[in-house]
Amino acid sequence: MLTANAFAATSATEALSPTTIERRDVGPHDVLIEIKYCGICHSDIHYVRSEWGDAHYPVVPGHEIVGIVAEVGSDVTTHAVGDRVGVGCMVDSCGKCASCRKGEEQYCLEGSTLTYGSIDKDGRVTQGGYSTHVVVSGDFVVKIPEGIELDVAAPLLCAGITTYSPLRHWGAGPGKKVAVVGLGGLGHMAVKLAHAMDAEVTVLSQSLKKREDALRLGADHYSATGDPDTFEKLAGSFDLIVNTVSATIDLDAYLSLLAVDGTMVNVGAPAEPMSINVFPLLLGRRSFAGSAIGGIRETQEMLDFCAEHHLGAEVEVIPADKINEAYERVLASDVRYRFVIDVSTLG
Ligand code: NAP
Ligand code: ZN
Ligand code: ZN
Repeated sequence: MLTANAFAATSATEALSPTTIERRDVGPHDVLIEIKYCGICHSDIHYVRSEWGDAHYPVVPGHEIVGIVAEVGSDVTTHAVGDRVGVGCMVDSCGKCASCRKGEEQYCLEGSTLTYGSIDKDGRVTQGGYSTHVVVSGDFVVKIPEGIELDVAAPLLCAGITTYSPLRHWGAGPGKKVAVVGLGGLGHMAVKLAHAMDAEVTVLSQSLKKREDALRLGADHYSATGDPDTFEKLAGSFDLIVNTVSATIDLDAYLSLLAVDGTMVNVGAPAEPMSINVFPLLLGRRSFAGSAIGGIRETQEMLDFCAEHHLGAEVEVIPADKINEAYERVLASDVRYRFVIDVSTLG
């Protein structure tokens, strides 16, 4: 067992605080990672506040993990000590079901093991990346390509893959009009990635405050959803809408922005249900869909794509004692565009 310094939530209402956790011994298939940076995803906040159901406390959140391999198990051939690596939202899956065989471990029919808050094979609850070390099966570890700094790579492990996967699945590319709703951690990566795929990108943000940023990130157009004219002006415009909003929104208003045969894919995961009026779907053969992160193979593909296109996240690196403040700023949509914890500050 290795003792790691960490930051944990002990209840839905208390601030996160320093602690120590035990990591398992490195097994034959495992990799020990010395964590350098970990991004703060809005999902961490939903989870630790038990917005998605009761969390397992104490919990160390964090699933945008990057670091350096410190030790490998005897059967690991794909990673070596000193490698720059990453771990995203999953640390295991059944490996046998139809989804796993397709490399879509996120849709494992038995349920994948999430990086934190899941029951692991040894019966212990998994603990995430706000921590100095983690032990993970080598099959769930990806390589950070040369050319991407570790701090800007961290958010790619969740925000990057969660937006890359639906953009690829629904064919974002030349001639496609893509709208991104919400310019936060996921949204800003969606803009960068869709732009790099040569789609025509529109940002739909609550106000005009982020306009300059959006254009700099690669958006071709920008509209404020607080302005009711936006919905009239853009009716029937988009082939694909990627909704990254962490709260409920008026889906009917956004569905009417789709062109005929267009798809709105929800990656945002608000706690409360949202209702849909079917008429905007019927009148235009439109689709409403969802998408969860991406498989390990596709995560590596996304990282290689980012390296090729010189893409990383826009980050604000913070010490561990600023995590609680960062949570409040994320909740106030005041993040530009991902907080990343400098794990060396965990001591
Ligand atoms: P984030 O950084 O907080 O970004 C969310 C953005 O949504 C905000 O910046 C804001 O953008 C907009 N927004 C927030 N509240 C709003 C409201 N009440 N009405 C309208 N717009 C609002 O969060 P994130 O880390 O990108 O995560 C976004 C969501 O995706 C979360 O629910 C998270 O749990 C989920 N998620 C899902 C997956 C998946 O696999 N599907 C993976 C990761 C995260 P503007 O200021 O531009 O309006
Ligand atoms: Zn996430
Ligand atoms: Zn499976």
